[in-house]
Amino acid sequence: MNPKYYPSHECGVFGVYNHPDAAALTYFGLYALQHRGQESAGIVTTSGSKSKFKLHRGMGLVSQVFNENTLKELNGSRAVGHVRYSTTGSSNLVNAQPLVVDCARGQLAVAHNGNLVNAGVLREELENDGAIFQTTSDTEIILHLMAKPEGKGRDNSLIHALTRIQGAFSLVIMGENELIGVRDSFGFRPLSIGKLGDAWILSSETCAFDLISAKFIRDVEPGEIVIIDENGLRSLKPYVEVAHKSLCVFEYVYFARPDSNMAGVNVASARTRMGVELAKLHPVEADLVMPVPDSGNYAALGYSEQSGIPYSHAFVRNHYIGRTFLQPSQLIRDFGVRVKLNLIKEAVKGKSVVVVDDSIVRGTTARTRVVNLREAGAKEVHIRISCPPHLFPCYYGIDFPDRKDLIANQMTQEEIKSYLGADSLGYLDVASMVRAVGMEENQFCLACFTGNYPVRFNPELDKLAIENRRSRSTPLIGSYQSLQERLL
Ligand code: AMP
Repeated sequence: MNPKYYPSHECGVFGVYNHPDAAALTYFGLYALQHRGQESAGIVTTSGSKSKFKLHRGMGLVSQVFNENTLKELNGSRAVGHVRYSTTGSSNLVNAQPLVVDCARGQLAVAHNGNLVNAGVLREELENDGAIFQTTSDTEIILHLMAKPEGKGRDNSLIHALTRIQGAFSLVIMGENELIGVRDSFGFRPLSIGKLGDAWILSSETCAFDLISAKFIRDVEPGEIVIIDENGLRSLKPYVEVAHKSLCVFEYVYFARPDSNMAGVNVASARTRMGVELAKLHPVEADLVMPVPDSGNYAALGYSEQSGIPYSHAFVRNHYIGRTFLQPSQLIRDFGVRVKLNLIKEAVKGKSVVVVDDSIVRGTTARTRVVNLREAGAKEVHIRISCPPHLFPCYYGIDFPDRKDLIANQMTQEEIKSYLGADSLGYLDVASMVRAVGMEENQFCLACFTGNYPVRFNPELDKLAIENRRSRSTPLIGSYQSLQERLL
């Protein structure tokens, strides 16, 4: 796969159907989802059948991309919004979402959270059929597939498109007559349904419902397509049901906001329980437990609760950092890391401290923190991490780099401890992490910890899919089912 074309997506998606202030609601919804992506933001609106879609997108934070005037322009009662994070190499406006097209099916807009694993083959196939791509994003493939007039009837042509793509996708799609929410059959990324009066809302996370005073109705189920139109909400389940659902456990560990609920479990509570499990697994004698804010806050609380060691906020976070354009000079060492967190030296001087964070990826952050603590006179530094070691890359939308960049893939835990300069290091294990969330192991994707990838990219079978499509005589859903069975 050529990474130039298929960037990962850590993103937030949001949609509104049937509200006079659809753009404003989406703007606030995106605000609540800002943690899921800070690179670009966009909103597309329409007032319904045949009225022209209006789109505004830009690079940067929601507050930088939109203002009163841009929101006024975005009139209409339906909207789709997106905030995007992408891996390097694909950072430009053309890949900002929602993506919009005007095609034989009418106007379509799509916002995507996740990462397709068969984007390469699909793009090649579409290009061979004459499709001209405007972006390097895998999301455009979905639009091209949807734009193709295949499958009889609107629902079938939608299903046709959606059953061709593999990988992780939570989508919010707007057609001229409907708003559509989709979750892949594994359910990697979250997507929830809410209501505000008569208006329907779709959101990556439930915290956005709270902000706009919408009522949480339910999660879109893995493998479900919900179609919202003037007749209300319809549910389609065209995918083969997979036994092993694969909600990304890292949503609970780090990615989601603590005030969100996923699969009925509150994220902050899950994190606190992870801290409790961590204290049981790796106890230590110390004077205080301190989080790396904000990612370690709840786990540190749990660790403190379980161990009885007092909790202290000795790291102080600067909340007002947008993008920093100043290149750090040699004089300002570790500028990037220090600008975010400063240490209350008096709180740690002469103390044995337990530092709790959610994860170690490359190890840069933890190493710098240990240096800061030693400089401030901490007597002992014990690092505790509220998830297992990250050993494998993620292909489903979380930005975990190549194996060679994952410190736990390259070093033993003893070596990592020495590299960090810590007195001890303790990670949570898979069983305790899953127990802390309160669900069964077979409900999660644990691939970045275990290397067991729920959906593998299989070029041979994907080619077979193309041939199957060309010679198809069986009904659409049936033919996909047999394929899916062979893929699993
Ligand atoms: P590192 O310096 O690479 O070890 O960074 C680890 C820190 O980055 C942890 O404290 C996490 O809170 C945060 N983190 C973990 N995963 C991600 C991710 N996919 N994107 C952005 N930040 C992350």
